[in-house]
Amino acid sequence: MMEIRALEKSKDKIVFMLKDSTPTFANSLRRAIVGEVPVMAIENAEIRKNSSILYDEIIAHRLGLLPLTTDIKSYNVPEKCKCEGKGCARCQLGLTLKAKGPAMVYASEIKSKDTAVKPVYPNMPIVKLLKGQQLELEATAVLGTGRQHAKWSPGLAFYKQKPEIEIGAVAEPAKVVESCPVDVFDLKDNKVVVNKENLTKCHLCGACEDVSGGKVKVNKTNDFIFTVESWGQLEPKVIVQEASKAINEKCDEFIALVKQLS
Ligand SMILES: [Zn+2]
Repeated sequence: MMEIRALEKSKDKIVFMLKDSTPTFANSLRRAIVGEVPVMAIENAEIRKNSSILYDEIIAHRLGLLPLTTDIKSYNVPEKCKCEGKGCARCQLGLTLKAKGPAMVYASEIKSKDTAVKPVYPNMPIVKLLKGQQLELEATAVLGTGRQHAKWSPGLAFYKQKPEIEIGAVAEPAKVVESCPVDVFDLKDNKVVVNKENLTKCHLCGACEDVSGGKVKVNKTNDFIFTVESWGQLEPKVIVQEASKAINEKCDEFIALVKQLS
């Protein structure tokens, strides 16, 4: 039976243990997190005035990369919206920016028509304006997925297999303890013992196996230590939930297609 247990939790990061799973499932989950969870990002920008040093295209690119807090329940992905992708209040959000130099223009100066969707990091600089320079634009944010463009990626996901360590008759225990770059071993009564707290840090480098001439063995298990770091658009737990939903939807779609096979 698959099991999941939280190891570490904060506002923008979650570490959990996925017990009794498979590398295939862990990788599917990782790929779904990075590429299938919809978040908001600016997709179009209509630049009315720009006398700054940066070209319109560069400003538009910078706007696209600003992470926006995402209210996933209130918006539809454009392709799945009732308007069929034409654009309506359920799938688009308008934002405006008006600035005059001399000043540094920050993300916080972007005005959003929806208070739930705004730049995650208010202090991200967009452009520096000199005296007399102006920037005026209207932008549209939509939901999208990391598979389309990295700007819609909700965060970073990675995992490693939890190791299981076998310790045999080690000739030089101190050398084994020293060999580990993440301090997985302790020396106790001149014997090598595993430091359980540090065990999850092991990245299977194999240094202990080499130094001990194979007397210490590091085996991979079917437990995965999974880390998800959010860029700020969604809570890490919500990212995992949405990724699971995306996997589910794909399976449903596949089942429906298989039914059509004759
Ligand atoms: Zn729509």
